[in-house]
Amino acid sequence: MKAPNIAARPVELLTEEEAKGELARLAAEIAHHDQLYYAKDAPEVSDAEYDELRRRNTAIEARFPELIRADSPSRRVGAAPAAGFAKVTHRVPMLSLENAFAEEDVRDFFATVRNFFRRPEDLARVAEDAIEVMAEPKIDGLSAALRYEGGRLVLGATRGDGVTGEDVTANIRTLKTIPERLAGSGWPEVIEIRGEVYMERAGFFAVNAEREAAGEPVFANPRNVAAGSLRQLDPAVTARRPLKFFAYAWGETSGPFARSHAEALAHFHDWGFSVNPHSRLCRGVAEVLAYHRDLAETRAALPYDIDGVVYKINELELQNRLGMRSRAPRWALAHKFAAEQAQTVMRDIMITVGRQGTLTPTAVLEPVTVGGVVVQRATLHNEDEIQRKDVRIGDTVIVQRAGDVIPQVVGVVIERRPKDAEPYQFPERCPICDSLAVREPGMAARRCTGGLICAAQAVERLKHFVARDCFDIEGLGEKHISAFWQDGLIRQPGDIFRLKAEAIAEREGWRRLGRGQREEADRRDRRAPPHFARPLHQRPRYPAGRPGDGAPAGPPLSLIRRVAARDGGGAGPRQLGACPSARCARHRRGHGGRHRRLFRRAA
Ligand SMILES: [Zn+2]
Repeated sequence: MKAPNIAARPVELLTEEEAKGELARLAAEIAHHDQLYYAKDAPEVSDAEYDELRRRNTAIEARFPELIRADSPSRRVGAAPAAGFAKVTHRVPMLSLENAFAEEDVRDFFATVRNFFRRPEDLARVAEDAIEVMAEPKIDGLSAALRYEGGRLVLGATRGDGVTGEDVTANIRTLKTIPERLAGSGWPEVIEIRGEVYMERAGFFAVNAEREAAGEPVFANPRNVAAGSLRQLDPAVTARRPLKFFAYAWGETSGPFARSHAEALAHFHDWGFSVNPHSRLCRGVAEVLAYHRDLAETRAALPYDIDGVVYKINELELQNRLGMRSRAPRWALAHKFAAEQAQTVMRDIMITVGRQGTLTPTAVLEPVTVGGVVVQRATLHNEDEIQRKDVRIGDTVIVQRAGDVIPQVVGVVIERRPKDAEPYQFPERCPICDSLAVREPGMAARRCTGGLICAAQAVERLKHFVARDCFDIEGLGEKHISAFWQDGLIRQPGDIFRLKAEAIAEREGWRRLGRGQREEADRRDRRAPPHFARPLHQRPRYPAGRPGDGAPAGPPLSLIRRVAARDGGGAGPRQLGACPSARCARHRRGHGGRHRRLFRRAA
């Protein structure tokens, strides 16, 4: 017996009431994913799944225009800039590009360009076999705008939502591939250079290895680590990350400086920027498509990830006349690569238990290379998806990696199913604590009902609690949390503040800091921004959770006492009280300073 799944119902069959509910659900879900993607750099779903949500939203709105919500996702792109950085309004908006996936779409794009021009002298220039197009690898990174006045870098900003970005000048200055002063000559008095901040795969692996060793969560892909690194509140962190920059466009300029895109790129190079050496000036549509096919085959050999090719009409005069259509220019197109797929055997289905008790299924695969990356795990999403695809252990499955998030199992090769394969039975008990795992009506996830008696949930919550985007307790990473939990030192978040320095100091790898080190740590803590200055998502989320999480509701921080003593000893626990306000000075002190020092690991 199953509750009707409205989310899966075709748009044409929705009643008005259901459509209303769906629009509300989609608005919330899309906002959630936007937040993860733009502000947290940690997407949970693939781009394709995200696009599907948006498509469904648009389709429902088209059928029920009177139900369009004030907060409809179709009314905005991207997410508003996070707090913690000053906002920058782009004087020339940073546009997004029209996407194409099939060669047919690319031909259509050029046909539209041709049809735009009527004069005979133009027709020759935009003919299918003659039109000049700059084709550039589309780097999977983070767009940035760099403003130069009198040849000096004065402002570096992220794209944000295209209209308003964030001032990340201090971080931008740490990039070695971005000149502080423009080289050569001939640059306009004011020019805003635009391009992509990215990280090569080698750098990405190194950063992740470091994080893994420190017990911190790893990044999903180079784009996320590039974005996360550029949007650090501490430029010293950015400086340690091997970020690079390719220049490929411009915003405001005080005067014209080129007649074609190719000429502009040549100037950028002379002024000291890296421009992508694989960019090529193509003549005619056939050449453009050949370039795309070529790059699709050789992309794995590039040191960085690309997810397609960008085509730009080369002559700026034509660009200007073409202008834009709603949010995207008519003179450019992003031709994406198809998602990459491979087949392999699924050895097992692993169930992990999250912080809120959600049981998540992951496919354990025979290692297989998908788009140049070895894949051993892939997401199966949830119980319904396993059922819908009828994925069985031992099956040969199709794994897809879309250049971005966690690879996913998209289907089964039925012909290769072993005879003895049986339908997968999703566990009804938590694999960790054996409590009943239940599904509430209408929910996709099955949850362990064990609450904090469930080791998985307890440890996951503790990890969350000490993580950088929460209480930011330096030195107390995932590994230590698990170990402390196992030894009974910490059972719930409040225990962290009751830890005695003596108890920790005896453990391997920990010792009491010397006085000089303590003072140094103090200084560092003071430099670290207090949490209320951080982006919203990085502010503490109170550990006892919200009602419905299976955690007790109520003013959660009143549960927490902290050790107020300088040396982690004795002035005794002090009530912090409920802490709703970012302006609360005690609260600020509590998170910014002392207890972090308590747990700093000995060198
Ligand atoms: Zn459990």
